[in-house]
Formats: sequence, C-alpha cells, structure tokens
Amino acid sequence: MTDYEAVIGLETHIQLNTYSKIFCSCKADSWGDPPNTNICPVCTGLPGVLPVLNRAVVEKALRLAAAMNVDRVQGTSYFARKNYFYPDLPKGYQISQYDEPLAVGGFLDVPLQEEEIRKVTITKLHVEEDAGKTVRGEGERLIDFNRCGVPLVEMVTGPDLRTADEAAEYLIRLRQLLRWLGISEGDMEKGQLRCDANISIRERGVDVLNPKTEIKNVNSIENLRNAIQAEIDRQIREVEAGRTIETWTLDWDEDSETLRKMRVKETEADYRYFREPDLLPIHISDEWKREVVEALPELPLARRTRFVEEYGLPIYDAEILTEERSLADYFEQTVQIYSGGPKHISNWLMNDVLRIIRSEGLTAGELRIKPEYLAGLVRMVQDQVITNSTAKELLDRVQESGKDPEKIVEQENLAQVSDEVELRDTAAEILAANPEQVETYRGGKTAVIGWFVGQVMKETQGKANPHVVKQVLESLLGEE
Ligand code: ZN
Ligand code: MN
Repeated sequence: MTDYEAVIGLETHIQLNTYSKIFCSCKADSWGDPPNTNICPVCTGLPGVLPVLNRAVVEKALRLAAAMNVDRVQGTSYFARKNYFYPDLPKGYQISQYDEPLAVGGFLDVPLQEEEIRKVTITKLHVEEDAGKTVRGEGERLIDFNRCGVPLVEMVTGPDLRTADEAAEYLIRLRQLLRWLGISEGDMEKGQLRCDANISIRERGVDVLNPKTEIKNVNSIENLRNAIQAEIDRQIREVEAGRTIETWTLDWDEDSETLRKMRVKETEADYRYFREPDLLPIHISDEWKREVVEALPELPLARRTRFVEEYGLPIYDAEILTEERSLADYFEQTVQIYSGGPKHISNWLMNDVLRIIRSEGLTAGELRIKPEYLAGLVRMVQDQVITNSTAKELLDRVQESGKDPEKIVEQENLAQVSDEVELRDTAAEILAANPEQVETYRGGKTAVIGWFVGQVMKETQGKANPHVVKQVLESLLGEE
C-alpha cells in the first residue's frame, strides 16, 4: 500500500477589533445587532460617496505583520478591486489588496509534538473589507449588510502543514497571538477568525504539488480538523481507485459533518483585479514601522522559553502560563512579591486560580485575588500558618470579597494548630475512644495512622497541621 502525506495551506481572514469600519465611521463590531443597523452610503456602495481609510486598521495590521516576522512591510501599498457578483456585495467588488500588499513574506513558529517547532510561512499579509451576509429564511434569502466594510487582514500560508492536527495547531497559535497583541478576539463562532484550507495529497517523500481542493465555511477549530481529515481520506480513496483529483471548492456541512461540492474553483483571472481609483496608496514611514516593532510585547513562544530558563519551570507549566498574556503577567507579578520560589506560585495558578478564572470566564487581570493576595496566601501555606485546605477555601472567599487573605485569617482565627500540647490532648482522646484501631497499629499494621490523622483533622475542622498531628500520634502510639 502506498504511504501518502497531505500538503495543506491555510487562508485566514482576521477581523480586527477597531471601533469603526475600514472605510467609513460605522461601528465595526455589530455582533448581535439587528440586521442592517450599522450601515451607511459608503459601506453599502451607494453612488457618489468615497471611502476614507481608517488609520487604526493599518496600525493593527502592522502589529500583526511585525509579530508574524514579515520579510518586508511595503513603504507603499495599494488597494485593488476584486470584482465578483454576489447579493451580499452591494458594490459588485470588494476593496482588497492584490499585487502590492501591505507586507510580504513572514512566518509563525508553531510548536508541535515532542518540542518540534514548525515554521509556517506566509506569502503575504494584506488588509481588505468584509462583505455582508446572506441569511437563509424559509423559501427566501435575506441580506444583512452590517458586516460590509468590517476590517479584515488576510494571510495565506505556504504549503507547510502536513496533517489535520498541524493545521488546527496553527490556528490555535494564531488565535493566541491575535489575543496577545490585542488586535482581535479571534472567535471563530463570531466570524472574527475564518479559515479556508487548501488540501492535496502526494506519496510520502515525493516532492510534487498535486491538484488541490479548497474547503470553505468552517467555523471552529474542531470542525477544521474534522473537515481536513475527511478530505484527506476522500482524496486517498479517489487516487487508490485510479481517479484524479479535481480542483473543487468544498463546503463543510456542520450538521452532517460532511463535505459538499460547491463549485469548480475560481481562478484569479475571474476576479479582474485592478487598482482602486477611489483610494490613495498606503504610505508607511520607516519611523512608523520602527514604532510598531518597538512597542511589540514579548511574544508567547519567547515568553514560554524564558519562563523555563528564568524560573526553572517545566515546559508544561510554562505552556499553560503563557496561553494568555494577562495570566503570564499575573504570574510574573506574583513571583516578584513571593520569594519562596516560582514553582509554588505556578502550582497554585495552574490548579486553583485557573479553576476560578475558567469557571467565572475572566482573564487573570480581572481577578479580585490580586497578585499580592495570592503571594500572601501561598506564603501562609509555606510558613504552615494555614493548611492547604484552608488556603483553597480562602482563595474562593478572596475572589468573592476582594479582601486580603491575611486579614481574613487574623479576624477569623483560621491559623492552623501546630501547637503540640494542644494537639496532644485531641489525639489522646481519639486514641482512647478507638482501642481496636490502636491494637491494629500496635499489631504491626501501621498504615492505620492515616485514619487517625484524618480523625484529628476532622476534630480540629481542618485547622491542624497534618505533619505535626502525625508526629504526635506516632509518639503517643509508641508509648506504653
Ligand atoms: Zn458605513
Ligand atoms: Mn480575502
């Protein structure tokens, strides 16, 4: 049997989170608004109006370009008209960029399994306007122009991905980057990040590009993974049956989880591109480029590496702590206050704090548990002022109340009992009440000590220091 590999390239459209649209002052984010309420003569293409470029779109696109390591931001780039007819495109063309895009070349480093980093290249990065949306009603089609003129960045990758999982990983990393840079929420369900996949297969080890098909309309990363896998399998079946692959455009049907042929793929010539006469070229000075590069934050992968090297964290921890920028910031702020070692903080963040963040749908920056509160709480656990279980409960209460955990401990007398004399009395009572277990212990089954520790903890409402309890019990049971 022949061994095949897939060659996958992705075309992504990213909705930038600017306040207004790309060429008019309509609100850009109209998610949830009634249809056709964020529109004007410019974005619906009425005669006699002229588009004006929104500078914030270029600013955010430049930030992405810098983070995507582009080879070159073009000092001058141009808009072009991409002509096609569709009911949701009132002008009959989309204002896009074509032969002179904003930036050319570039890559994103995508970590894969076993520490492999794949350089996924992009051929170019350009800005363009979105089209509207057609909504299928019963026996009718309705058109919503709200999305017309919403700013997009389009990026096309090279044929660098080999499996459905790798394609999904690229999108996960791209989404992480968009949020990190604060330029898009990258929510696929809301259409803020859209992805079409080009797929072909070839015999493993043979360096050719075969006819490819394109999958459109995938609205989640999971669906992208499933759709690509289904298409790879289909192409292999076709080739094995002696048929050739035709260059179709396929539509992913979410409900049936199957691919449907939409049409034979357009070629670029079908769009009759030409320069947009209503807009000036985009000029980007060297100074602007420099400002954007200088203002760029440390990127996720670099920060992950630094967390391993600087704080001695396992890569597993570093990965989770850098999933989101505000969590990474929170970790570093806490570590600066807490001198007992970064791993303690990492453990508390990954387990308990992240549980609160996820269940309440917050970012780390929105927590009421301030970094100094977490540092204080972990300090109290390490100094054995409070037990682990008290600390966990306390954490939830700090989040609810926004109060300093050290104050709560002081006011409510939650400090754990490490006083041996006090614990000795409690332990002695429990031993006296359970002579059978005492016999079991003295008969050699010393594991029963765990049960005794549990009883003392229960009696002290979890406030006893379990290590001290165990020592006290051992000394009492050893007596006689
Ligand atoms: Zn408008
Ligand atoms: Mn496009």
